[in-house]
Amino acid sequence: MKFDLHVHTDSSDGTMSYKEVIDLGLKQKLSGIAITDHDNVDSIEGAMEYASSLEDFKLIPGIEFSCVYQGEEVHILGYFIDYKDSSLLKLTEELKESRISRGIKTVEKINSLGMELTIEEVKSFSKGDFIGRPHIARALKERGYVDSVSQAFKEYLGMNKPAYVERYKIEVSQVIKLIKDLGGVSILAHPGLIRDKKIIDYCIDQGINGLEGIYPQHSNEDFKYFLEKARERDLILTGGSDFHGDRYEKLLLGEYYIGRDTIEKMEMIR
Ligand code: AMP
Ligand code: ZN
Ligand code: FE
Ligand code: FE
Repeated sequence: MKFDLHVHTDSSDGTMSYKEVIDLGLKQKLSGIAITDHDNVDSIEGAMEYASSLEDFKLIPGIEFSCVYQGEEVHILGYFIDYKDSSLLKLTEELKESRISRGIKTVEKINSLGMELTIEEVKSFSKGDFIGRPHIARALKERGYVDSVSQAFKEYLGMNKPAYVERYKIEVSQVIKLIKDLGGVSILAHPGLIRDKKIIDYCIDQGINGLEGIYPQHSNEDFKYFLEKARERDLILTGGSDFHGDRYEKLLLGEYYIGRDTIEKMEMIR
């Protein structure tokens, strides 16, 4: 049984709806997926309902919180969370609003660099109320200012690039605690993308439940390192494809996955 535990939909910066993603999961012979949109749970309720109408497909409610710690992106996945909790929904609303004002500031920076772009154009690449840098990158590509989304990040939107604007500050320790309070399991997303390994130990010391060792951009050495780290510190090792619909040329959903045993371990520690 295969489960892909890192999937984005169009409620954040993925390009497919939850229904399209689940249908694709079935086609890829997955037994289930976790939907883990950035900073929101808007797709979860509908996805849970849709999955329960199917014969044998497990939908795990999830979220991917975006933190910055010591100048690096630190993303924390929360699984099996109570996605209807009012304190969670209050926080996700705040995060969404701050993403909109950040989007406006980013567009202003782009304009001041001499490029024409409007927030409406950016919003046309999103379902509406969530703005992420990938939407801005897609709008820049449409305008012809860059040839690819990754070029937009490299030249303008990446950290310390001229159109970079910080996100709302949400602390690693606060997120780990929130996920626990929501009855969930916290996992450090794509730890191999974190340059300073001390940050990984910091997250473990803060009580994170596991590491996403299986990930498309991880090397074999990364995988072995996290596997050993998980053994050493008694953590769960998870994995997923970080599917965004169109992030890579080739289809990726279900190429990175974990088995039933990992799901059981996750359900046990809640
Ligand atoms: P944001 O949450 O608005 O700060 O945007 C960050 C998201 O953009 C990440 O979670 C990725 O999905 C995506 N991203 C980050 N860096 C790149 C890159 N170099 N190329 C393409 N997508 C990226
Ligand atoms: Zn994303
Ligand atoms: Fe991430
Ligand atoms: Fe992700």
